[in-house]
Amino acid sequence: MQDLLIKNGKVLLFENNDVVIKNKDILVKNGKIEKVEDKIQENLSVYEIDAKECIVMPGLINTHAHIPMSIFRVTTEGCSLYEWLNEKIWPIEDNLTREDIYWASMLTFAEMISTGTTCINDQYFKPEQIRDSAKQCKIRAVLTRPLTDTDNLLEEKIQEFISFYETRDLNDDLITYSVAPHGLYTCSDICLEKSAQLARKYKLPIHVHFLESIDEIDDIQKMHGERASKVLKKYFDGIHTILAHCVKLDDEDIEILKTMDCGIAHNPVSNLMLGCKIADTTKYLKEKINVALRNRWSRFRQ
Ligand SMILES: [Zn+2]
Repeated sequence: MQDLLIKNGKVLLFENNDVVIKNKDILVKNGKIEKVEDKIQENLSVYEIDAKECIVMPGLINTHAHIPMSIFRVTTEGCSLYEWLNEKIWPIEDNLTREDIYWASMLTFAEMISTGTTCINDQYFKPEQIRDSAKQCKIRAVLTRPLTDTDNLLEEKIQEFISFYETRDLNDDLITYSVAPHGLYTCSDICLEKSAQLARKYKLPIHVHFLESIDEIDDIQKMHGERASKVLKKYFDGIHTILAHCVKLDDEDIEILKTMDCGIAHNPVSNLMLGCKIADTTKYLKEKINVALRNRWSRFRQ
């Protein structure tokens, strides 16, 4: 890896728990930041970037994505979440080839890199092609094979996940893994139990959709016999869990989440496009629940 000198940038720094911006040079050696100083003169051969008039900051992290779905942008018009999934997305996804997934992922990664995102937490099927694409782009990603059992194919999906995980490149520290039950309304108790077992066995985090739309509240209650947050705690307590959306949390849900090792991936653009409202992240932060952003990576509508 070639050493790197970033000169003349406005560098975003943390000082005394505050964010400050200062004119600094940055020297990166062997992939790690070695110096941040007013002026760095380096005689060795380094790749130099003149960052004049630029902010230099850590890469953005997208905490909830379905990487190849950039090809489905502008399909949400006038749909509720369930209509969008059942009538538009799932029928098309059944016809996607591995080659489609690879090239759709390349498109997404190119857009993400061009807008400053360097790490993505994903859940999508045929993940081998997403992994190939991520390696090609040298981007950091948390990948998985999502699990559902609305179609009675749970065992097949679990085997796909295991074979995907077990064929990982142990020397690649850019690609890491999660276990992703898709959502509590698309996963039975057995699916959630098996997801928790996999997460414990491989010491991986859980990545799950949680209370994105109003319909889920009743559907989860009917399917599992308890409120969603109680189901979540029953299966995933003690496992680091990333909850995508969390638009419909009430006070009791918040109290339960506070007892868990979890963080919320906030998705405001997606939530507005599907008419789900916006999550009350101010309240969640006040209650000391971690909130991260699913940033909108594209300059184009999606
Ligand atoms: Zn999602």
